Amino acid sequence: MEAARSKPKLDMEKIVSLCKRRGFVFQSSEIYGGLASVWDYGPLGVEMKRNIRDAWWRANIRQRDDMVGIEAGILMHPQVWVASGHVATFADPLVDCKVCRQRFRADQIPGDRCPNCGGELTAARMFNLMFKTFMGPVEEDASVVYLRPETAQGMFVNFLNVLNSTRKKLPFGIGQVGRSFRNEITPGNFIFRTREFEQMEIEYFVKPGTDEPLHERWIEDRFNWYLDLGMKSDNLRLRPHSVDELAHYAKACTDIEYLFPMGWSELEGIANRADYDLQQHSKHSGKDLTYFDEESSTHFFPYVIEPAGGVDRMLLAFLVDAYDEEPDKEGIRVVLRLHPSLAPVKVAVLPLSRKDPLIAVAKDILGNLRKTWSVQYDDAQSIGKRYRRQDEIGTPLCVTVDFETLNDNAVTIRDRDTMGQARIAISDLVPALSQRLGVC
Ligand SMILES: [Zn+2]
Repeated sequence: MEAARSKPKLDMEKIVSLCKRRGFVFQSSEIYGGLASVWDYGPLGVEMKRNIRDAWWRANIRQRDDMVGIEAGILMHPQVWVASGHVATFADPLVDCKVCRQRFRADQIPGDRCPNCGGELTAARMFNLMFKTFMGPVEEDASVVYLRPETAQGMFVNFLNVLNSTRKKLPFGIGQVGRSFRNEITPGNFIFRTREFEQMEIEYFVKPGTDEPLHERWIEDRFNWYLDLGMKSDNLRLRPHSVDELAHYAKACTDIEYLFPMGWSELEGIANRADYDLQQHSKHSGKDLTYFDEESSTHFFPYVIEPAGGVDRMLLAFLVDAYDEEPDKEGIRVVLRLHPSLAPVKVAVLPLSRKDPLIAVAKDILGNLRKTWSVQYDDAQSIGKRYRRQDEIGTPLCVTVDFETLNDNAVTIRDRDTMGQARIAISDLVPALSQRLGVC
């Protein structure tokens, strides 16, 4: 059964506005009018993005015996993109409006007139989505290199290096987090589709014949990762690709979709790429990229399962999922119910007054907590306003230092979600916070 709900409850403007107001995401080069569809991460955004990467790396690399990580260069040998098929086929049909000059992807507009002004369109021409640049001082065809359009190829071309240096046996995988670039004709929906973005990809090499159950397992593992980080299951679904959607080499692909403000959209794709990539790189490089299986004494090309997601759109999904508003005394309390391991600030230290003895104790606590967590210190305005400011950025816990602290050496821990408070001795503060925050 398809989830009955397909209308999101939240419009994107609320998230965009919160992101700018509180310093999660800014428009790139804004003082110059902005650069289309490029976004900068502000002080809170950069912390949250780092937390997403760390949570992914922990679950998919460090906590598994069968996974290792790499970090390949953004620039790669141009032949890589010939072998992968990107030079020949990584292109979209582009049309221009002869009247308003707007550009569209021919396959994304209904009819043959400009959706903007109704003007006449040019004939479609294929437009390669790879960004080109030149390596070295001479701008000539022979020195063209590309900004990688995906991180996957860095794993395929290092397959032998990883195999030889780690002596891994099938099945095993290589994971990587890094920037990719696609000159999209129609980017949009805030940080959902951008021309410069960050991917988290895994190439998991398996013995042919074992690929289907291992593909299923990765789909399950990756789906559960989002649930473990607090994403609501109502807002997630799996969508297997139909045969005509599949890339010509892929055996199967299932998307994990999220109910974004603009509707259900891809968060991550988990593809069974068969042996296409290693075959192609063997052919184009002349290197034998087969695997020697000791059990059967045979050489073969491993099949590849590829879970591939985007950090930017995950960050957007986690923000949308966590966003909540509830009525309170002063009107509306905006609260980001982020999982503690994703929250950009874990703890806020709030002295009740700016008087000397309190500040000294509060600063002391701040210095101590900072050794472990990302912590904010705030002594401006009323305590109620300060709690609201922390709720709005998803800080799970506040530590309030009050006048009683000077007598009892204890502070109050206040919980973002329940707004419940507990009195804790300063000497027990770190273990008490650790227990509430978990791994983060
Ligand atoms: Zn037009």
